[in-house]
Amino acid sequence: MVGYDLSCNKCGHTVNISEWVGQHDTDQEIEEKIRKGEFGEEVKKFYDEHGGPITVLYELYRCEKCDLISEEIYVIIAKNNDEFLMHQTCKECGGNTSLVNMSIEGTDHIPCPKCHRGRLVMTGEFLWD
Ligand SMILES: [Zn+2]
Ligand SMILES: [Zn+2]
Repeated sequence: MVGYDLSCNKCGHTVNISEWVGQHDTDQEIEEKIRKGEFGEEVKKFYDEHGGPITVLYELYRCEKCDLISEEIYVIIAKNNDEFLMHQTCKECGGNTSLVNMSIEGTDHIPCPKCHRGRLVMTGEFLWD
């Protein structure tokens, strides 16, 4: 696992990405929710067709409307490596979200979710088991 601290270069607002990692459901719990239809019909159909066990990958998403950053399910991989890409909408405002690829683009293009004027810069990166 990798954690990041992102700080706004204007207002100093800090986003700690490692916080969200601990709040994840396990793959088994996600699988259970998919089976119950909690993630919608589309992914349930995918699961019914492909079967488990599944692997769940998370990525960072940014809301195009309110700039909220959150870590959400990006892809669900069933056996035979079939992938289902999740469509995410913002939890706060319901706006469209887009994937933030930090490893390629860095983070300094990400607007601050608090002041919307600054950009988030990475101030710390750490690894743990
Ligand atoms: Zn939003
Ligand atoms: Zn800010």
